[in-house]
Amino acid sequence: MDETRVAGDSDSNSEEGQGITGTLIWYYYICRREVWLMSRQIVADQQDENMDWGRFLHEYAYSREKKEVAWETVKMDTLTNRQGELVVAEVKKSSSYVKSATMQLLFYLYRLKASGIDARGELRFPEERRKEPIELNEELEAELKEAIRQIKQIIAQETPPAPAKIKFCGKCAYREFCWA
Ligand code: SF4
Repeated sequence: MDETRVAGDSDSNSEEGQGITGTLIWYYYICRREVWLMSRQIVADQQDENMDWGRFLHEYAYSREKKEVAWETVKMDTLTNRQGELVVAEVKKSSSYVKSATMQLLFYLYRLKASGIDARGELRFPEERRKEPIELNEELEAELKEAIRQIKQIIAQETPPAPAKIKFCGKCAYREFCWA
């Protein structure tokens, strides 16, 4: 939810999305240099809040809306069981970076799908009093896989991509590092 944090998500491993987090997906659509910088902090931060599958399913089965559900590379703002339909919601302060938010949420849907769970997504912008339904389809899944592939390439580089001034720099946690 916090778009200015540096590391944060405790997401980390699994097949196609191995080592990739929802936060990295979000930043990939903002700044690739930030993806690299954040990736260097993930290693130290990858355990405790995660749940194993049994606990995840238990929580899902017995709660109507669970907040801040973390499981493997996925850390969802809320998870709701609406009469048997699983809805993953991502809450954002504003819709300014809606593409990033959409792809982050699609990443969670994709990870759930890969584990045999169908879910739909909902972007929530409480300060704008609006919600946006998000669904995974073939085209978006292909785009997501390409993003994951490119994120892995960025992370594998020994040095970060060069900084490029963008609007987001003004509120980025790395602004001193990039521009001081
Ligand atoms: S300050 Fe700008 S260039 Fe540097 S990581 Fe942040 S968004 Fe990217």
